[in-house]
Amino acid sequence: MTQTVLVLNSGSSSLKYQLVDPASGQSVAGGIVERIGESSGSATHQSGESETVRDAPVPDHGAALRLVLDLFDEVGPSLADAGITAVGHRVVHGGAVFTEPTLVDDDVVTAVRDLVPLAPLHNPAAVKGIEVARELLSHLPHVAVFDTAFFAPLPAAAATYALDRKVMAEHGIRRYGFHGTSHEFVSAAVADHPAVVAKLAAEGRGPETLRQVVLHLGNGASASAVLGGRPVETSMGFTPLEGLVMGTRPGDLDPGIVFHLVRTGMSASDVDTLLNKRSGLLGMSGVNDMREVRKLAGTGDADARLALAVYLHRLRKYVGAYAAVLGGIDVLTFTAGVGENDHRIRSGTVRDLKFLGLTIDPAANEARSDEARVVSAGSGSEKPLVMVVPTNEELAIARQAMELVEGS
Ligand code: ADP
Repeated sequence: MTQTVLVLNSGSSSLKYQLVDPASGQSVAGGIVERIGESSGSATHQSGESETVRDAPVPDHGAALRLVLDLFDEVGPSLADAGITAVGHRVVHGGAVFTEPTLVDDDVVTAVRDLVPLAPLHNPAAVKGIEVARELLSHLPHVAVFDTAFFAPLPAAAATYALDRKVMAEHGIRRYGFHGTSHEFVSAAVADHPAVVAKLAAEGRGPETLRQVVLHLGNGASASAVLGGRPVETSMGFTPLEGLVMGTRPGDLDPGIVFHLVRTGMSASDVDTLLNKRSGLLGMSGVNDMREVRKLAGTGDADARLALAVYLHRLRKYVGAYAAVLGGIDVLTFTAGVGENDHRIRSGTVRDLKFLGLTIDPAANEARSDEARVVSAGSGSEKPLVMVVPTNEELAIARQAMELVEGS
């Protein structure tokens, strides 16, 4: 019988869910409940080819999960017959405590709640999602999978900020890194890809020497440097604010800007909103979706053009820096919404990085595909590869949850 995992990703006003078969990698059904806590909510449920939309107020995460369970009941597939072996929860911040997928009990819920000060925008929703799911699906084991876990073994030189060591110790300040589930999934898929295996074989090198840079470019965006499967650098830091330009976050920023804004009258919470919700592509161009930025830039809009230039400049800077950290690059990989779909971001990033041996094959780069693929030009074995690898965080969470439950 097929075994599945129900993966839940609770946001502050949304609940995304997917019923995944970890063995085949298929998503059996899934959807999203949106505008939780607002006067009008809606759920979109996908099962096979059919899509069902329900508009109704959804007061809280408990009501959202009840709506999801009703949709499975009414539209299918029946959860009772789905062979669910676990519920996998995406949790953004695991702090220093959680460095691996963890079976949830009361103590784990308390510990995730204790981490709320480190991730005030993200962990409260995860706690709510876990609590209601443990109540409504009490017969199943629940597994928490942390976005920070992959980066727990970052070398100290990469994880440490050059701050007063007592302040760092007191406040748990370090580079935690985020999007870890995606960086782990994608870098593992790259290492297993036949073109990469062949490249290492041709050079007579073992997989432990593989030097990868992964660019996860979604609404949030982050870069990682991975050596032989282990992370050695990542661009998000103590919070997801640091690093690349994102949909609504600025990435790297002089902290002096924050003091200036506070001194001249902005409250700390206004600055928080400015940096998390009103900056990045949205702040610079007025729109946060890369497709909209492109449309505006196409009409000659100067702000949108500058936003694209800033976005690309930052990407090139990070790839160059990570090449230095790794002592060279074997594979540069693009993933997530922008990375998988926007061929101009890929070619724009690589264009000025010829000195690293990076190239783009325009036809391969512009061809649309859902498969992991090589988009660099030429085939000289010493040349680095440029790849596009679709990420699948739900599948990664399902696999990790299944592995933990089966092994316990
Ligand atoms: P999230 O970070 O929310 O998980 P995704 O990885 O799904 O997001 O990425 C969402 C973003 O991907 C959108 O905001 C949009 O900017 C971008 N995107 C999606 N499709 C395209 C496309 N065809 N071309 C350019 N950008 C795209």
